[in-house]
Amino acid sequence: MISQDYIALEEKYGAHNYHPLPVVLARGEGVFLWDVEGKRYYDFLSAYSAVNQGHCHPKIIETLCEQAKVLTLTSRAFYNNCLGPYEKYITEFFGYDKMLPMNSGAEADETALKLCRRWAYDKKGINENEAKIIVCEGNFHGRTITVISMSTDPDSYKGFGPYTPGFIKIPYNNLDALEKALEDPSVAGFLVEPIQGEAGVFVPDEGYLSKAYDMCKEKNVLFIADEVQTGLARTGKILACEHENVKPDILILGKALSGGTMPISAVLADDDVMLVIKPGEHGSTFGGNPLASKVAVAALQVLKDENLAENAERLGKIFREEISKIKSDMIELVRGKGLLNAIVIRPKNGKEAWDVCLKMKENGLLAKPTHQHIIRFAPPLVITKEQIIEAVDIIKKSILEISSE
Ligand SMILES: *Cc1c(COP(=O)(O)O)cnc(C)c1O
Repeated sequence: MISQDYIALEEKYGAHNYHPLPVVLARGEGVFLWDVEGKRYYDFLSAYSAVNQGHCHPKIIETLCEQAKVLTLTSRAFYNNCLGPYEKYITEFFGYDKMLPMNSGAEADETALKLCRRWAYDKKGINENEAKIIVCEGNFHGRTITVISMSTDPDSYKGFGPYTPGFIKIPYNNLDALEKALEDPSVAGFLVEPIQGEAGVFVPDEGYLSKAYDMCKEKNVLFIADEVQTGLARTGKILACEHENVKPDILILGKALSGGTMPISAVLADDDVMLVIKPGEHGSTFGGNPLASKVAVAALQVLKDENLAENAERLGKIFREEISKIKSDMIELVRGKGLLNAIVIRPKNGKEAWDVCLKMKENGLLAKPTHQHIIRFAPPLVITKEQIIEAVDIIKKSILEISSE
């Protein structure tokens, strides 16, 4: 079968809830992917930053295979000999008292919302069913009904109502709006992405997170950071909140916590928050399974062993510098932090970000537009300087070719 055949199968038998770039991938290693015809590509999406450690990282895959032969799933009806060590490892890694394991990012966000609401009633003394959580316009926290109830993107929420109440939506990167919203005494939490990834890599002003954190503290409101995409070395620190020395009250992790192997997410918090949920009140059949527990430890260990945060910081600067040198009126601007970057494309002769992505694919680099006119560039963090330079050459060549068509 060739690429077209696989695409036809998905078209015929799969739900049409995605619009993929027409490339059929069959193999991955480090920063590279190969399609079924054997053509090699730079991966500049990294599965939305789930593959920060690079495709099929040998240490993570070895851990996965070894544990898969021994024990994969027990449910939480019983203890297993992997979860406890994982909980100890991850809480020490991030400096929290406790961790609650889930699978997808959306589930971890839901968990954080439940923790926040329960905390509001048990600890803050808000009247039952009246707790509110402040969220930001342009947010992306996943696809469940409650999570899309927080969304301001019609593609995400339209036609899926009725929506979960209890959210106050304010503009991102706007402390005045936050201050006003915090005046409501029934506010229990502020949920925020340190950089808005899906919205198009919106980096807030310096000081936004730390001031927002202080404002939340003043009102006894939980600061909840969704670091599913920004976390785990992507932005040049292990957590993006570290850029402003903020330690969230509730930390949400996912994506790269798995090293790109299987759905693994986690919520971290200290005891006064985490212990408001009692046995039987929340859970997941797969959350905290032995396989995921082993894999997550390996995935975190790789970040440390290979200094991936430092690499992201150093190479991100080079990436933005090199992209800025490209002379094309199709590049409106370049923005980002570490190796989470985006360029805003100014359409030309009817050519848009999608056309640029098709051209880059032809030239051996995979990236995907987000919101029509923005292309996100987020390679695996194991990338080298030479590879970044080569990738920028491909991006440059592609944009210049598209501009002159
Ligand atoms: C991807 C993402 C999610 C959702 O993760 P899933 O595993 O797809 O459910 C949540 N929050 C942010 C910031 C994300 O980027």
